[in-house]
Formats: sequence, structure tokens, C-alpha cells
Amino acid sequence: MLVLGGTTEARALAARLSARGLQVVTSLAGRTSAPLEVEGTVRVGGFGGTSGLSTWLSSSSPGVVVDATHPFAARMSGAAAVACAAAGVPLVRLLRPGWTAGPGDRWERVASLDAAAARVDAVGSRAFLAVGGGGVAAFAGVRAWCLVRSIEPPDAPLPAAGEVVLARGPFGVGDEVALLRRWAIDVVVCRDSGGPLDGKLTAARTLELPVLVVDRPPPPPGVPVVGSVDAAVGWVTGPR
Ligand code: NAP
Repeated sequence: MLVLGGTTEARALAARLSARGLQVVTSLAGRTSAPLEVEGTVRVGGFGGTSGLSTWLSSSSPGVVVDATHPFAARMSGAAAVACAAAGVPLVRLLRPGWTAGPGDRWERVASLDAAAARVDAVGSRAFLAVGGGGVAAFAGVRAWCLVRSIEPPDAPLPAAGEVVLARGPFGVGDEVALLRRWAIDVVVCRDSGGPLDGKLTAARTLELPVLVVDRPPPPPGVPVVGSVDAAVGWVTGPR
């Protein structure tokens, strides 16, 4: 089977399925220079769009494909939906549930990174951008001073004023509170990556900071969605 990876869930799924004796190939985009170890076989790099993935499917003949990419990896998900449908290979989308605001949260939902960039200057003047290295370019034109955090150096162009911190999470709440205080952040921008509520959101709640939360792109139509690694294991190993 093929797992389209790059997430914690994809690693967990590869481990669970490998432990059951299934042959798992995990595909990584190759964005991070030191990816975490994955059970089974790993292939790295883009397929070359939908047609490249179609070629890969016909030469490797996986029995199923699990799209366990990040909720914002819309291009890969779209290509998987088209290529798997054309090849007749069963495909499931593993999508961790999104976040829900709780008491004390000052969240404002926005439809896209561009919408967040258009809004940020109205909300604050010192922004913490936790939008992935590929998402920062949308903020190139903002007036706010921006603290950018990403695993790999962010793609240009960058905001006119700010600082870049390279780090890989997870980040504890205490450290996040300290970070937001140290840089006098007055607005947090993040994508609705989902999963356990993470440190920066709890820190923003603690400090009563506004948060612009970017909504996820919709999953490709017609592809079944499961919300957990357990459910994905059940889908792969059970009757379909
Ligand atoms: P994307 O916009 O959907 O993908 C861009 C291109 O990267 C795809 O068209 C594909 O290239 C290649 N690609 C993406 N995922 C791949 C995979 N698992 N295996 C092989 N090729 C892949 O995705 P992205 O936002 O750039 O994210 C890239 C990868 O990083 C994803 O696998 C995702 O799970 C992981 N990741 C992303 C984020 C994020 O913030 N978006 C966060 C954590 C992890 P071709 O067209 O050449 O096939």
C-alpha cells in the first residue's frame, strides 16, 4: 500500500500497518532536510503531478492508497483523488479533526492565507506567523512586524520587518507563552492544522491574544475521509 505522508499520523499508520506484515511505501515530498524515521519503505520527492502519480500507480500497483498528508496539502490530495480514480485504486483520506475554539479563545476564522494577510494589520502590529514555510509569502505585503516560525527556511518573499525562527514542534505551552511575550506579539496567525490543541493556541488563550485561524481547503469530493489512525487501519484492513 501507498501512504502519502509527511505527518505524524502517516508515520503512526506506517508503523501500525508494517507491524501487521503489510508492505507499506510511504511517500514524502522531501521538504524537510532531516525527516523523522518511518517504518517500511520510503520514497522521497514529488511524483510529477497527476500524470506522474498515475505512472507510479501503474508500475507499483498498490492495493490501496491512504492520503495522510497535511490538511493543507491540497495539491497532493487533489492529484491522489484524480489518479486513484483513474487507476481504480481505492483511496482514503486520513484527515485529523480540525480545532474548535473554547472558552477564552479570541479566534477569528479566515478563509485563506491571503485573507489572513489582508486582515492581520487591522488586528495587530506584531504578528506571530505559524503558517508553514510555504505560507509566509502571502504576508509579504503586510505592515505588521512578523515573527515567522517554520521547520525549514520560509519561501521568499518575506514580510518587510520581522524575524525568522527555525524550529520543529511540538512546542510546550510554557515555551510558547515565553516566546509570545519575548517578541511582544499581539496577534497570532495559524492554519487549522487540527489534532491535539497545540501550545501556541493555549498560549494565545493564556495571554488573551487574538488568533487568525485559516480554514482548511475542502478535501477532494468523492474520497472517503477517516479522522484517526485507528480508523485508517480499520479501513485498510477491513472490508470495503
Ligand atoms: P502540496 O501543496 O499539496 O504539494 C505540492 C507538491 O509537493 C505536490 O504537487 C507534489 O509534487 C509534492 N508532494 C506533496 N506531498 C507529497 C508526498 N507526500 N509525496 C510526494 N510528493 C508530495 O503540499 P505542501 O503543502 O507543499 O506539503 C508538502 C508535504 O509536506 C506534504 O506531504 C505534507 O503532508 C507535508 N506537510 C505539509 C505541511 C503544510 O504545512 N502544508 C505541514 C506538515 C507536513 P508533484 O506534483 O511533483 O507530485
